[in-house]
Amino acid sequence: MNSVTDRPHATIAAPLEEWAFGPAPRRGTRQVQVGNVLVGGGAPVVVQSMTNTDTADVAATAKQVAELWRAGSELVRITVNTPEAAATVPRIVERLAMMGVDVPLIGDFHYNGHQLLAKEPACAEALAKYRINPGNVGFGKKKDVQFAQLIEFAIRHGKPVRIGANWGSLDQALAARLMDENHLREVPLDAAEVLREALIRSAVDSAHRAVELGLPAERIILSAKVSGVQELIAVYRALAARSEFALHLGLTEAGIGSKGIVASSAALAVLLQEGIGDTIRISLTPEPGALRSNEVMVAQELLQTMGLRAFTPMVTACPGCGRTTSEFFQELAKVVQEHVRAKMPEWKITHPGAENITLAVMGCVVNGPGESRHANIGISLPGTGEAPSAPVFEDGEKTVTLRGDSIASDFVALIDAYVDRRFGAPGGALAADAS
Ligand code: SF4
Repeated sequence: MNSVTDRPHATIAAPLEEWAFGPAPRRGTRQVQVGNVLVGGGAPVVVQSMTNTDTADVAATAKQVAELWRAGSELVRITVNTPEAAATVPRIVERLAMMGVDVPLIGDFHYNGHQLLAKEPACAEALAKYRINPGNVGFGKKKDVQFAQLIEFAIRHGKPVRIGANWGSLDQALAARLMDENHLREVPLDAAEVLREALIRSAVDSAHRAVELGLPAERIILSAKVSGVQELIAVYRALAARSEFALHLGLTEAGIGSKGIVASSAALAVLLQEGIGDTIRISLTPEPGALRSNEVMVAQELLQTMGLRAFTPMVTACPGCGRTTSEFFQELAKVVQEHVRAKMPEWKITHPGAENITLAVMGCVVNGPGESRHANIGISLPGTGEAPSAPVFEDGEKTVTLRGDSIASDFVALIDAYVDRRFGAPGGALAADAS
C-alpha cells in the first residue's frame, strides 16, 4: 500500500457534506452524583485530578486540594493507603471547609481499603466516592469477600464508587483464566487481545457484581486505564459498547511534559469526539518544581479546544516567523493568556459568560487583521518593515490603533473593558449569546 487511497480507512473521496462537524452527541449513561457534582447522563464532562502529597499530612494535602480546586478541578482524588491517612481524611475535609474549598474528595484504595474503611467510619463518611481497583482488591479466595466488603461500605454510607481497572494491576486470575480459554479456541486470539479483554471484563464484571450486591447502577463509574493511545481508544470503545455506566477517561502513566500532554490529548480527543467519556483526568508527571494543577489546565484546554466546555477565554496566537520583528508579540500573547486566566475566577462570578470569548494576538499584517477579526477582540502587531502601530479589532470591526510602549497594558485594559461591557451587570444577560 503506497498511496493514501490504498489505505483501508481512506475516505478522501467522500463528498464534503458527508464529513461530520463537531463531536458526536454524548453517549447516554446513567448519571452519578459525586458530592454536588453530576457525572454522565448528559452532564458536562467533569474535570478531575489527584493529589501527590502524603494524605496523612493534613496541611500539605488540604493545600494541594485547594490548589487543584482553584485551578478548576471539580473532583479531587486522594490516596488512602494507611490507617494514618484514613484517620486524617475527616480533618482534611474540615480544613477545606474552613478554607472555603468546596470540592468532593475521592478516596483511592488499593489492597487494604476494606480494613481502612472498617476502622475509620468517619473517613468512609467524609469521602464523596471510593475508587476501587478490582485488580488488587484482594487475592485468591479473599478477592470476592474484600470486594463485597468495599461495596457494602459504599451502600451503607450512600457513596458512589469508581471501579477502576488498570493495565499495571490487571486481575491476574482473570487474565490467566481467559488465556486458558483462549488456548482452547480453534483460532486463538492474539495474547494482547486477550489481555485487553481481561481488563475490560475486570471492570464490567466487577460493576455487575457490585449491582448484584445491592449498589445501585447510578452509583457506579467505570474506568479501564492503559498507557498506550491506541489501546486506550480500543478499550473505551468496548466499555462504551458493553455498558451504560458513566466512564472516567484517562491515559494512565501518560508521562512528563509535552509527551504526556500529547499522548493524553490524542487518546482522549478521539473518544470525546465519539461522545465517550463523562469525566477526565490528565495523568501528567509534574516537571520538577511545576504545579500539580497544570494537569487541570490541560484537561480544561482539551475540553475547551474541542468545543465541549468553556472555562477561560482562549487566545489565538500565531507562531511567529521571519516577519516578526521581536519577541514582543510572544510576550504579549503570554501576558494576555495569563491575565485572562488570573481574572477568570472573579469573572466567573461577576461576568458570567466571559469564559466564552476568543482573543487573538498576531505578529504581522499577513494573517493578523484577518485572524483578529475572527476573534471577539484581537490585535495585529507590526511585523518587519510595517508602521509601528497595532490595530485592535472587536467583533470583526477595527476600533482603535495602539502605539508606543504601552501597547500591552492598553490591550489588556481593552480586554477588561470589552468583558465589562459585554458581560458585566446589568449587561450580564448578554452572556447567553456568547459563542
Ligand atoms: S501572522 Fe505574520 S508573523 Fe505571524 S506567523 Fe503569520 S506571517 Fe508570521
